[in-house]
Amino acid sequence: MDDELKKAVEFHGHLCPGIVIGYRVSKYVREHYPRSEDEELVCIVENNSCSVDAVQALLGCTFGKGNLIYKDYGKQTFTFYSRGDGKAIRLYFKADLSKRMDKLRGRYFQGKITGEEKKEFEALRDQIMQHMIDAPDNEILDVREVDLPEPNKARIFPSLKCQECGEGFMEICGRTIKGKVVCKECYEKML
Ligand SMILES: [Zn+2]
Ligand SMILES: [Zn+2]
Repeated sequence: MDDELKKAVEFHGHLCPGIVIGYRVSKYVREHYPRSEDEELVCIVENNSCSVDAVQALLGCTFGKGNLIYKDYGKQTFTFYSRGDGKAIRLYFKADLSKRMDKLRGRYFQGKITGEEKKEFEALRDQIMQHMIDAPDNEILDVREVDLPEPNKARIFPSLKCQECGEGFMEICGRTIKGKVVCKECYEKML
C-alpha cells in the first residue's frame, strides 16, 4: 500500500473496493490534470459511496469547502473542473467486479453466507482489490475532456433567527408558516 492509499484508508476507516476506486481516480487527476496550486479544483461526484471519501482525503474536494458537488446518479463518475483554465475532465470507473463477487456480496450483507462462501468472498474481494490497485489506467478508467459551465461558488447568505426555535439559519432555507418565519426543521414539525 503506498502512502496515498494509506491516507485514504485512514480517513475512511477501512480498505474496500470503493476506496481503491477513489484512490485510482485521485491519482489519475494528480498525474494528468495539471493545475497551479492556487486554482480551486471542483469535483462533481455522481455517487455518495466509499470512493468519494478517497477524493476528499487525497484531492481536498470537500462539502465544507463547497468544492464537492453531489449528484444522485448512482454512478462511479467523477468530473473535475479547474477554476483557472475552465477545462474539465470526466472519469468513469469502468472495471467490473465479477458476477460471482456480486452474488456473494448480496448474501454476505444479508447475513446468509456460509463459512465456505465467506472465505471465497474474502479471497475474491482481495484479489479484485489488488487488481484494481495494479491495473493500468486505461483498463479501469474512461477519461474524456468535457465542456462544463463553471460550477457555482459556495454562496454566503444572510442569516435569520427562527421565530419558533430561536436558532439562526441561512435565509434561503427559511419557510413561512402560521404567520411566522421559521427554519426548515421547525417548518417540518409544524406542518
Ligand atoms: Zn468502504
Ligand atoms: Zn426553528
